[in-house]
Amino acid sequence: MRRKILNVIDGLAQPAASDNWTTLIDPATGDVSGEAPLSDGTDIETAVASSMKAFTGWSRLTPGERCTRLNTLADRVLTRLGELVEAEILDTGKPRQSVIEYEVMPALEELRFFAGATRVMDGLATQEFRAGHTSTVRREPIGVVGQIAPWNYPFMMTVWKLGPALAVGNTVVLKPSESTPSSAYLLAQIATEVLGPGVLNVVNGGRATGADLVAHSDLGMVAITGSTRAGRAVAASAAENVMPVHLELGGNGVAVIAPDADVEEIAAMTAMSAFYNAGQDCTALTRFIIHDSIYDRFVKLLLEAVAKIRVGAPDERNVLYGPLNSEQQLKIVQGYLDRLPSHARVLTGGSRLDRPGFFFAPTLIEGVKQDDEIVQQEVFGPVATLQKYSSDAEALAMANGTRYGLAASIWTNDIKRSAYFTKGIRAGTVWVNCHLLHNAETPHGGVKQSGYGRDLSKFALEEYTQIKHVMTFTEAHYPLLRDDGSVAW
Ligand code: NAD
Repeated sequence: MRRKILNVIDGLAQPAASDNWTTLIDPATGDVSGEAPLSDGTDIETAVASSMKAFTGWSRLTPGERCTRLNTLADRVLTRLGELVEAEILDTGKPRQSVIEYEVMPALEELRFFAGATRVMDGLATQEFRAGHTSTVRREPIGVVGQIAPWNYPFMMTVWKLGPALAVGNTVVLKPSESTPSSAYLLAQIATEVLGPGVLNVVNGGRATGADLVAHSDLGMVAITGSTRAGRAVAASAAENVMPVHLELGGNGVAVIAPDADVEEIAAMTAMSAFYNAGQDCTALTRFIIHDSIYDRFVKLLLEAVAKIRVGAPDERNVLYGPLNSEQQLKIVQGYLDRLPSHARVLTGGSRLDRPGFFFAPTLIEGVKQDDEIVQQEVFGPVATLQKYSSDAEALAMANGTRYGLAASIWTNDIKRSAYFTKGIRAGTVWVNCHLLHNAETPHGGVKQSGYGRDLSKFALEEYTQIKHVMTFTEAHYPLLRDDGSVAW
């Protein structure tokens, strides 16, 4: 199937002004599946101007009116669910069930959460904090937000970005990932009908397009979900305009498997947490830190669970995960395997599958050291490392011993040990006896080089607002200058 994706600017579906295009590849087959615009500063200029124009009307709607419109947007997307799922599958090659049940449907629920939650957002109650003066703290939208999305969950990440920003009254110019533009294109067309032209503009392209977007001085804020490398570049660019930045960046999620963990029960759960979505999840379990007293037993069970994992195309039966998103990502993952030090041992997997498309076998590596590249970096593929520890303090140091701080889990039945790790691990999320789960109501985001700012929850809504103190004079209570020049203290 060959498709032509377009930009949606000011309500009009259109190619880039330069008429430049990029080729889309179906990762499940490696075949060309369509093309999308490669936009530049000219398209960004038009899109930002359109969103600035739309801001006046959209920001003046009451929260209740915006809530209704965003719920209608979710309803209208549902009426085109089949089309949306096909678009997402063609861009990602993922199993159909996982796209529907774990991405599109939850994302629509999250959109409804943002729609409703904006109705209970407030500033600070009016009060006379200073005698004779009434203070009010207003919570206001920021303006036009420039947002950049990644390819690992294209539709869901798009909703996590634009949902809170639009709900509180901003307008958005969004740049999807260059390899997965289709679902955002469909969403933007529906949004034009429901929210009005310019409230959501979608401009397609690669890194250079993203760089043009975040450098635009008329934006009020920029937000990116992407790699730490991209986040650093975005933050540096935004600093030129002293612009608030929201960064959801990379991670190398860790699980500490304590000596008292129910290893029989958790082996399959942890395998899922490592390999769901081919490990292309910023919170994926990529580092197992296992107590030495249970290491052999746990690894045996883990290998048995991994041996049951099926990898395949969207409509193959009982497939846990599909391909890596691109040939480029396949090369990146294979590169980490090729550069493994001699002390590391690949227990299972380690290479691509012998079939068309960008499929990679679930891979477990033991014998690694804390300083090894495979432990320190984010592979973003179905690859996890196994390390041994002997004391809680050692495990905590290993868990915290990378530049990332996005997600972690502790697997234990000991309440004191659980408290020790949940407090001590430096990460935006710590799970106990589970991993990889999120809710609309709870915050998602990182510390250290995993970024700052939170997606989901009321915290995301707050981040897309700015606050303003308004003080109103009611009666004189400060030094007054009399007519004769004396001061009435
Ligand atoms: P990427 O950084 O290569 O690209 C992400 C997006 O940023 C793309 O749209 C890309 O075009 C754009 N981009 C890249 N460089 C840019 C620049 N200098 N200026 C402006 N835009 C730029 O990442 P990716 O490969 O698309 O996605 C995978 C990464 O995203 C992983 O590191 C993953 O951990 C991260 N991620 C983080 C979260 C989170 O919530 N923390 C969620 C999903 C993915």
